[in-house]
Amino acid sequence: MAESLVPRPLFKRLALVGIGLIGSSVARVARARGDLATEIVANARTEATLSRVRELGIADRTEIDVAAAVAGADCVMLCAPVGAYAELAERMAPHLAQGAIVTDVGSTKQSVIRDVAPFIPTGVHFVPAHPVAGTEYSGPDAGLVDLFQGRWTLLTPPPATDEAAVERIAELWRRCGSMVEVMEPGHHDRVLAIVSHLPHLIAFTICGTADDLADESRQQVLKFAASGFRDFTRIAASDPVMWRDVFLNNREALLEMLARFTEDAQAMARAVRWGDADYIEDKVKRSRKIRRSLIELKQA
Ligand code: NAP
Repeated sequence: MAESLVPRPLFKRLALVGIGLIGSSVARVARARGDLATEIVANARTEATLSRVRELGIADRTEIDVAAAVAGADCVMLCAPVGAYAELAERMAPHLAQGAIVTDVGSTKQSVIRDVAPFIPTGVHFVPAHPVAGTEYSGPDAGLVDLFQGRWTLLTPPPATDEAAVERIAELWRRCGSMVEVMEPGHHDRVLAIVSHLPHLIAFTICGTADDLADESRQQVLKFAASGFRDFTRIAASDPVMWRDVFLNNREALLEMLARFTEDAQAMARAVRWGDADYIEDKVKRSRKIRRSLIELKQA
């Protein structure tokens, strides 16, 4: 490969503020490729997590103090639960280098802009992002080098964000294997409410409903779970703090989608009650079509 085509590290120092499933997956890609950043600095809330990060060898340096973690970094990526962003942004703001890019991976985008943008100093760029990829596991051991492969990352830059900064974050995600799209933050939150947040709400609720059943039925639920319940329990195994923060920070869109879902569930209940076989069959057929489309788009 000609010298000019050799991909150079995008950043000199990438600071990951929070290094669980998502942060450690980015760190693993950075390690594997070598062209995301020359140096990776990891920050977490607890020394136990940082000690594990050192054992895994996925960062060059670990810092328990967020100010020390972001100092001198030309890219700072927030990878903590979104409810922690405002406090983190306030603490790190005075230590951000001029020209640095602050980005994030949070599952909600309007709240992230509301909570982080006011703390971004002049001369520092802010490019919010959301890799739409994940598993039900958390912590630095859960990260996967191919987590973002073939998945979408959505960028939601506020108006007048420096285009070169947006392009560098887009390139970071392309190097992680992602496809990238720029989206308006409110639109992002509505789309994610239906494709991710509502399904999680339903999964948490159905597990609660099953758990509330009388002892004897509950045992039967576990025994015969393979008939459908099992798939809900996988989604419902996700991190409680992360999902608490997602629900509370995408309240309007989530409640709107839940209201629409409740109406549709009522319509289905009515069809069941009155024996409307065509209605039921039509709904199942439409759902199968959606599943087939996902498989064709390689997002299943
Ligand atoms: P995770 O595995 O639970 O890791 C969270 C990390 O953030 C840990 O390193 C944790 O440190 C740190 N942290 C927690 N509270 C903190 C605080 N108050 N200050 C500083 N650090 C703190 O979480 P994750 O699944 O990677 O999710 C991280 C972000 O990615 C969230 O904003 C989430 O919305 C977004 N996201 C998640 C998924 C998914 O499927 N999981 C997908 C896309 C985007 P300790 O370990 O020391 O507590």
